[in-house]
Amino acid sequence: MADEDIREAAPAALASDDADVEVEEGATPVAELDPETRARRDAALRQVRKLGDPVLRASALPVDRFDDALRAEIERMGELMGDALGIGLAATQIGVLHRVLVYRSDPEDPLTALVNPVLEWSSEETEIASEGCLSIPFVHVDVERPAAVRVRARDARGEQLEVQASGLTARVIQHEMDHLDGVLMIDRIPREERKEAMRAMREAQREASLA
Ligand SMILES: [Zn+2]
Repeated sequence: MADEDIREAAPAALASDDADVEVEEGATPVAELDPETRARRDAALRQVRKLGDPVLRASALPVDRFDDALRAEIERMGELMGDALGIGLAATQIGVLHRVLVYRSDPEDPLTALVNPVLEWSSEETEIASEGCLSIPFVHVDVERPAAVRVRARDARGEQLEVQASGLTARVIQHEMDHLDGVLMIDRIPREERKEAMRAMREAQREASLA
């Protein structure tokens, strides 16, 4: 999940059937989706800002009104994320500069929304795992992050909330919190790997457009 690109034009429709495409961690390969699910995903992805869009580099602003508009925004983010088959989404990814993120790292879990999240603690122990980003199609990179975090935030109604997470959930939260500061997963890997990832992305996009 990260960004500098090329695609506002024809987003995920770019995926050719044999392309190795996934979205945020853990999603079903696109080629295996039924046509309806795939169409819904493509429509959702068209609303997600992609690498190269300056808004992805902006710092989002704290939310100070916990009103119906905020709850509608969160609901829309949850729907978009679900339709896009992602497991996390930050408001900046849909062009809204609010410090809001949503995630659902296990399909059985309810959607969690964090408003104005602040990292309170992160473990010294780190883990390396593959990440993807709805804003950076075709790219998966190994990112090293703290294995566990504790985050303080507010929920959609403004209630204080503390989340302690490890594993995939900790990773998703950190990835989405990065988005709120204009940081992308490709910023967290060595320069050489970033160049390689960008090359692979352009290649996949070219192939997809020819498919
Ligand atoms: Zn992302």
